[in-house]
Amino acid sequence: MEAARIEHTRPWMNRPAAAYNFAFLDEGSKREIRRKTLKAVAIPGYQVPFASRELPIARGWGTGGLQLTLSLLGPNDVVKVIDQGHDDSVNAVSIRRLIAETSGAATTEDTAKATLIQSRHRIPEERLRADQILVLQVPQPEPLRRVERSERLTRRKHAEMDYSAMWLALYEGIVRWGDITLGADYPVMVHGRYIMAPTPIPRWDNEKLHQAEHLTLFGAGREKKIYAVPPYTDVIPLQFEDYRFRKESFDGKACRHCGSTDTFLDETTDEATGFTVYQCSDTAFCRKRRGEELP
Ligand SMILES: [Zn+2]
Repeated sequence: MEAARIEHTRPWMNRPAAAYNFAFLDEGSKREIRRKTLKAVAIPGYQVPFASRELPIARGWGTGGLQLTLSLLGPNDVVKVIDQGHDDSVNAVSIRRLIAETSGAATTEDTAKATLIQSRHRIPEERLRADQILVLQVPQPEPLRRVERSERLTRRKHAEMDYSAMWLALYEGIVRWGDITLGADYPVMVHGRYIMAPTPIPRWDNEKLHQAEHLTLFGAGREKKIYAVPPYTDVIPLQFEDYRFRKESFDGKACRHCGSTDTFLDETTDEATGFTVYQCSDTAFCRKRRGEELP
């Protein structure tokens, strides 16, 4: 019903034959997702089960994040979608197109201009503000899955705050390899209560969740879970006193495009010389730093 009231950016969307409900999902589904989201915000780091909807993209391709975005979206929102730091990857482009065409919402590549940012595997380099929401697509929401296969038992371990198996796995890694060997998706303790999977973001991005101004929401479509880190929440990576959490180091390396030495860098090969070179993973940030006007 609401669709008729929205001025679509694409005029053909206003034709009755092409009319979806605003933002694709029906209002009942959106309400249910928003209720579960509120619960997730009220219990930071706790995984809230939800009835994951079917979408015209396959599960495992960001449907959890997309359902959050579609349920939160209003006609005045400005949406940015990134995949591994890129605005122009196939996955990011198709999700952005689906959002724009079913809601008429404006889109941008400029992090600062976005009100709603959906992402896979990265948190933008620019510090997010209180008026922005970050939605992360989650493949595996359960941080204890690596030490416990049973869903029933992981739920009980969370309820009882029994995280000994997780700490033991971390310790065994140190005994075997001499250091903490976890890479991306490094588990964090949220608000001193729940261990949470921050999704496969690099360790570099973990600190952007700690005491952040913005709200971060996590959506797992296939696993049917929503969880959240509200603003100004403690998000502390698991670590031992003598084996500390460390983020990736790019000492002595710089972005080949903007010269940055303070961003997360991707390693790649120079097409011309065959040498290993580095460039910002957050491509929009890199272009902005070089003075480019972003769409
Ligand atoms: Zn750069």
